[in-house]
Amino acid sequence: MQLPRFDFLQPRSLQEACSILREGNGKVSVLAGGTAFMVALRSRLHTPSAVISTKALSELSYIREASDGGLVIGAMTTLEALENSPLVANGYAVLGQAARFVGVPPIRHVATVGGNLCLDTRCIFYNQSEFWRKARPDCFKLGGDVCHAIDKGRRCLAVYQGDLAPALVALGARVRIVGVSGEKVIPLTQFYTGNGEKPNVLEPGDILAEVQIPPSSGNTWGGYEKLRVREGMDFPLAGVAVSIKTNANGAIDQARLVLGAVAPSPLEVPEATELLVGQKLTDSLLESVAQKAYDRARPVANLAVDASYRRKMVRVLVKRAIGRAVSGNG
Ligand SMILES: Cc1cc2nc3c(=O)[nH]c(=O)nc-3n(C[C@H](O)[C@H](O)[C@H](O)COP(=O)(O)OP(=O)(O)OC[C@H]3O[C@@H](n4cnc5c(N)ncnc54)[C@H](O)[C@@H]3O)c2cc1C
Repeated sequence: MQLPRFDFLQPRSLQEACSILREGNGKVSVLAGGTAFMVALRSRLHTPSAVISTKALSELSYIREASDGGLVIGAMTTLEALENSPLVANGYAVLGQAARFVGVPPIRHVATVGGNLCLDTRCIFYNQSEFWRKARPDCFKLGGDVCHAIDKGRRCLAVYQGDLAPALVALGARVRIVGVSGEKVIPLTQFYTGNGEKPNVLEPGDILAEVQIPPSSGNTWGGYEKLRVREGMDFPLAGVAVSIKTNANGAIDQARLVLGAVAPSPLEVPEATELLVGQKLTDSLLESVAQKAYDRARPVANLAVDASYRRKMVRVLVKRAIGRAVSGNG
């Protein structure tokens, strides 16, 4: 599990980083906090000719109020900064909760927002050592034409297991992508492809630079819950993020419910929004919303825990997340 050989580059500006990536045409990779990428390198899941560290790009490390009253977060902001930020706690609590659920404090100390959103998809047949993987033919994600998780599977359903993205989708976030020929801002929902082989839309030369969250008005509550093998530290096996805005009468004005770790990208449940808006929360409404989320989640047998158990737990996590949100603990 030694590191492969590669050139290590430290660009001093975002534009320089983009140029190097573009020239590398897929053979140069970004290293942010390195908490996920170093493991992937050691497992030879990636064998880039060069790696660029974005650590020196301090201009990408900030959490600020935007001119429209929303929040902007630089890609190099650490998860530790996120979980301790009063700006995040005040109106975007679901994001702070999700950050707190990532790994353990030493990981959050260096892990970045950009790295979390650009996390590669994972599968129990893929995230293994090179030696282990060699016992089987290459799967779709390794450039082959077979899926080991699903018998006769025709595409890669490796799972996006980042905790932040469901919370950010629930908050209606957008991302700013910078490339050699300019920049663009797209909704985070459009950042993910739904394809396990290539989970996001970044092309060689692109760097995710910033997350932009719309303003949060008063009475907005959030909740994030996840299932994991080790409560102390683990990737989500299923996750639920919810953002709810109530009016003066206690009825729900806006609601967004998003599932994580059950598909190659975060999965929004619009049926939950339809059920919740205009209503006051009751046990039977909560039950119906949880059922809609269960119906939408279709995890397959590609993580360490049984897929049907993960699916059943979606129902439980929805109730917990909404309960957390409306209790004000969000
Ligand atoms: C033991 C352990 C437990 C973990 N638990 C969790 C968990 O519970 N939840 C969770 O979500 N994650 C977990 N992780 C994964 C990881 O620590 C986090 O997702 C972290 O936020 C990744 O950020 P990073 O800065 O370290 O990214 P890196 O490892 O540096 O990069 C991750 C990927 O993103 C790309 N990348 C990074 N920044 C950018 C950018 N700005 N633009 C374009 N591409 C970029 C890299 O090229 C790489 O492919 C865990 C990891 C470990 C080792």
